[in-house]
Amino acid sequence: MKPMGAIPAEFQGVGPLIIAGRSAAEWIETAGSSPIFVYDAAIAAARVARFRAAMPKRVDLHYAIKANPAPPMIAALARLVDGLDVASGGELSLALAEKPADRISFAGPGKRDAELEAAIMAGATINLESEGEAERAIAAGQRLCTTPRLAVRVNPDMELRGSGMKMGGRASPFGVDADRVPALVKRIVAAGVDWQGFHIFAGSQALSAEAIIETQAETLALAGRMADAVGVMPPLVNLGGGFGIPYFPGDVALDVEAVGAALGERLAERAGSLADTRFAIELGRWLVGECGVYLTRVIDRKESRGEVFLVVDGGLHHQLAASGNFGTVVKRNYPVSVATAAYDAPTEAVSVVGCLCTPLDRLADRVMLPVAHPGDIIAVFMAGAYGLTASPTAFLGHPQPAEITANTGQS
Ligand SMILES: *Cc1c(COP(=O)(O)O)cnc(C)c1O
Repeated sequence: MKPMGAIPAEFQGVGPLIIAGRSAAEWIETAGSSPIFVYDAAIAAARVARFRAAMPKRVDLHYAIKANPAPPMIAALARLVDGLDVASGGELSLALAEKPADRISFAGPGKRDAELEAAIMAGATINLESEGEAERAIAAGQRLCTTPRLAVRVNPDMELRGSGMKMGGRASPFGVDADRVPALVKRIVAAGVDWQGFHIFAGSQALSAEAIIETQAETLALAGRMADAVGVMPPLVNLGGGFGIPYFPGDVALDVEAVGAALGERLAERAGSLADTRFAIELGRWLVGECGVYLTRVIDRKESRGEVFLVVDGGLHHQLAASGNFGTVVKRNYPVSVATAAYDAPTEAVSVVGCLCTPLDRLADRVMLPVAHPGDIIAVFMAGAYGLTASPTAFLGHPQPAEITANTGQS
């Protein structure tokens, strides 16, 4: 038997699982068939409120929509956050439907000319990933007779310690090496663009407040040094994000209040070259990861060499991360439950496997769950970020699952 991660507090309780006021079976009935994703936007809204309470007032909150680009989720969060961060022309279109362009920034390597032009025409900020991209953005602005809004993404000297995905302190396709940033900023300012500041992202999925505090302090110091070298105050410094969520056994939730308190102190003592700068933090999974549940029905129950397998109608083609094949080296168990189980159901050790014909398709490996049978519904938690859109949906040709966003604040 193997442990699994903790079920988010909002979904803990005795008896059948309730999501945003309804049972798993009711949600599947609403959608027509299983599997489905259900997102409770009220949980994401509560994360926004917690961020606001914890962070200094001058720090804006951006939502990185690649974590969950379901349009109702973008709409619900757009009303609550200060900006939307996008990483493709497609995401730019989704964001423009919900937020004024001057609140949208566009990061990511390999932006095509058509994507640069769309961002410039709309008036969104482009976070430049390289000197070459800067020249293409300047040229696009000239072609369109429009002044581009450009920020420079920095490949920082440091990395976010303990983060699941490190994005600094090494050679990188993301951002411009810090020592080359001042020259690039001077170049784009001289070209007449509307310079928006720096974007400094050092890593993702960190659960250690100390590591984030340390990285934010280094990020502020780096921004101050670069601003001094440029000689112009950056209007905005995007401090990155990296707030993680507890997916696995033993993970402890991030102490966001400690991060906010420390950042308040650092901002109070920041360099004079950043005196009037605004700051932003961009978050994806911390806002939406815990609000989503993937619901999939048991098709078959079988035994093999003494082990019980629950074969479900979903799998890694919808929820790749839970199978351990998205950014993790060792498969550890996401939290799962039998959504239809009575509170007093007996338990057993089982593996939950998907319906794809590959041994990789295992949603839970030898976990203790209430005894389940065909027709029961399995809930896979932590499915609100990097779920459906980060999964190989075309693999094996099964139908696309429905996504339902509840509690969007709009009827
Ligand atoms: C993906 C991404 C994010 C969001 O990361 P999370 O780990 O989901 O918070 C933030 N900023 C940038 C630049 C990204 O590429």
